[in-house]
Amino acid sequence: MNPNLESQLNEELEELKNNDLERTVDDLRFISSTKATDKEGKEFLVFGTNNYLGLTHHGDVIKAAQEASIYGTGSTGSRLTTGASFEARELENNISEFKNVESTLIFNTGYMTNLGVIYALTKENDIIFSDQLNHASIIDGTRISKAKVKVYKHKDTEDLERLIQIELEESTKNNEEKNNNSNFFIVSDGVFSMDGDIAPLPELVEIADKYNCTLIIDEAHATGVIGKNGKGTVEYYKDKTGIDLTDSVDLQIGTLSKALASEGGFVCGKQVYIDYLINKSRPFIFSTALSPATIASANAALNLLKENSEEYLNNLNENTRLMRKLLCDAGLNIVDGETPIIPIIIGPADLANKISKELEKEGILVSSIRPPSVPKDMSRLRLTVIATHTKDEIEYTAQKIIEIWNILNKN
Ligand SMILES: *Cc1c(COP(=O)(O)O)cnc(C)c1O
Repeated sequence: MNPNLESQLNEELEELKNNDLERTVDDLRFISSTKATDKEGKEFLVFGTNNYLGLTHHGDVIKAAQEASIYGTGSTGSRLTTGASFEARELENNISEFKNVESTLIFNTGYMTNLGVIYALTKENDIIFSDQLNHASIIDGTRISKAKVKVYKHKDTEDLERLIQIELEESTKNNEEKNNNSNFFIVSDGVFSMDGDIAPLPELVEIADKYNCTLIIDEAHATGVIGKNGKGTVEYYKDKTGIDLTDSVDLQIGTLSKALASEGGFVCGKQVYIDYLINKSRPFIFSTALSPATIASANAALNLLKENSEEYLNNLNENTRLMRKLLCDAGLNIVDGETPIIPIIIGPADLANKISKELEKEGILVSSIRPPSVPKDMSRLRLTVIATHTKDEIEYTAQKIIEIWNILNKN
């Protein structure tokens, strides 16, 4: 026992509490894709899930999980030993077809995918160029990597190119001296998780090609969300410019836990990368594979998306536009954009918390996001709309947010 450590931990927790930065876990049970109840049975409208298409509660998805669960509730081992279920291969092939790439590898979470891919592919003399607002799992992947990490200003491709040129000069010098090669990597979210904005993919591709960089795009909030068939950032720009950048992105990373209604992560791209990761990626090698039921439900959700993409994406986009318009017209400070991630910038953490608590009293759940997830004084309500919200639910929620904001902002 170390009483010293215990009192240090207590002190730190106390400080978090005093600064409105304490995090707690509140139990919740979903009864549909948009509604949940707490332990007392109080019902809430939820405007904060990543369940963008509402498929967690679709009959076909639930049935797929039930049917696959007869093959066991767990996978019994790593994919490399006994955990290699038929379902996993089927889903990988399905994702490869959907994304129009050679090969796919499933990991246990999106978080582990970023760790496992970045750590495995980057070596000591390499340099990773990473967007300032990349997801924590990318940041953590770069932290455990032996490569040097250079963070460029958010979506600022001029800053990216400037940093590459500096490193290029350095590494040319070093190579002459030590004769070692270094690889350059550019890593970016496709849709940024806190601001909901979209990466400048055509410019990133141009720079990656010009300087021989490996380009990795994290599609966690993009797959099933943007592009006319929900294929993500590549499709979004293809719709816009007519140019297909599929082959210019070396690796797309994604999750099964958002639009695909299950749990898990994936990486997809050329076969050589996937073969290498199977041999070298520690989170892939040393962790028990996902259960057949978990994988089968993601596969069923992907099949539904492929069959009904137009309908789902239309609903999602209509709901997004309605919510954004209502909040914007009322003068709230929302981060401009076109994705269903709608950040309402509040500023101080205590005010963001207070608004979130008032909404809870009205039966609406919207998370307040505070440092360290976002910069200081940029605390916000992070609202997400999904395809299965009704117009009434959106209008009611917007009205309540506006009412509460107007009262609390005046005080
Ligand atoms: C959510 C998210 C992840 C993590 O995915 P999980 O499957 O939840 O672990 C990774 N990257 C980004 C950009 C995300 O938003």
